Amino acid sequence: MTLAIFGGKPVRDTFLSYGKQYIDEEDIRHVVNILKSDYLTTGPSIKAFEDKVASYVDARYAVAVSNGTAALHTALYGCEVKEGDEVIVTPMTFAASSNAIMYLGAKPVFADIDPITYNIDPKDIERKITDRTTAIVTVDFAGLPADLEKILSLKEKYKLKVVEDAAHALGSEYKGKKVGSYADATTFSFHPVKPITTGEGGMITTNNLAIYQRMLSFRTHGITRERSQFCNRDEGPWYYEQQALGYNYRMTDIQAALGLSQMDKIDAFITKRRKVAQLYDEAFRELEGVITPYESQDTKSAYHIYVIRLDVNKIKTARREIYEALIAENIGVNVHYIPVYYHPYYRELGYQKGLCPYAEQVYETMLTLPLYPSMSDKDIDDVIKAVYKVIQYYLVSK
Ligand SMILES: *Cc1c(COP(=O)(O)O)cnc(C)c1O
Repeated sequence: MTLAIFGGKPVRDTFLSYGKQYIDEEDIRHVVNILKSDYLTTGPSIKAFEDKVASYVDARYAVAVSNGTAALHTALYGCEVKEGDEVIVTPMTFAASSNAIMYLGAKPVFADIDPITYNIDPKDIERKITDRTTAIVTVDFAGLPADLEKILSLKEKYKLKVVEDAAHALGSEYKGKKVGSYADATTFSFHPVKPITTGEGGMITTNNLAIYQRMLSFRTHGITRERSQFCNRDEGPWYYEQQALGYNYRMTDIQAALGLSQMDKIDAFITKRRKVAQLYDEAFRELEGVITPYESQDTKSAYHIYVIRLDVNKIKTARREIYEALIAENIGVNVHYIPVYYHPYYRELGYQKGLCPYAEQVYETMLTLPLYPSMSDKDIDDVIKAVYKVIQYYLVSK
């Protein structure tokens, strides 16, 4: 069969995107009910959504915010990260994980990844700790929880805070327990491609009351209405205080209503995502030239994305041509992620190529395949067929 990139017939006629939300009539009903109610924002749906997520991940407190990036900013503020601090972070992530450190005037210090799991390597974290280091931002890459046990032991040893960026990992498990209460603060994103969606949205969970209170105030301008916490004299029932510089990072009740309804489906979403991942694993295990994702006995990934790596010794072309050939077959592949410090903004700050060799090496050969809950059997089959068609064409041994 001629590859579509050379004018052959594509594996499918319509384009299959790499990720997509799942919205049903229940979701629509929940949102419409809010539109007809008294509260579009700061109403009862916010607390209900926070409670539902907190209870799902078994954390004491949760704070809903406007997006996953705001969640990271709020979490780091909650952990008292401040100007001049160094915060260790993985480069194998969306830029937001590092940008949030910059927002607070702190310095991102990139630690390399483990080339098997693609998660931050605790050994490299330890090498990069200095007396200015105050926190670590870990990312559960693709949904696979980071090496939390080792990271938490570094936290104890060096008296650091840990923020877990679980934008990919709502429902992921580490040692039999969902992520959400291992770190000082765990952040989630509800962007449409993430495990559940609210359009835009985010949340932070924590077991620490002080961090929770700092985050609540940060979400709304640094204002508190908690009378016991006032600095000045309580001037009356109308009185509130702005005690710090916060932001307007509030979520609307419209979003929270969608989130509440999506939470009813989270387990079904994860089951489907894991099923698709398993079908890919089985299909590609025998395919020369392709390296499938890692999963250990200790973890259960929510599979936000399915990332393969191309075995460069077995394939006679660069990732770019494989990428373009799969797009031509109408398979929406993607690349997660460009190492954060490759971006011109970070280059200008002085970060240079060579900083994290494994992240750079892995980046060269990664490819994200389509994965989302509403994929049909035919969609899954088309991805498998197209990967076989393209990879086998380019095999050295062929
Ligand atoms: C999506 C994502 C974010 C940002 O979330 P938004 O809701 O888009 O702001 C942060 N970190 C990671 C790893 C992400 O994938």
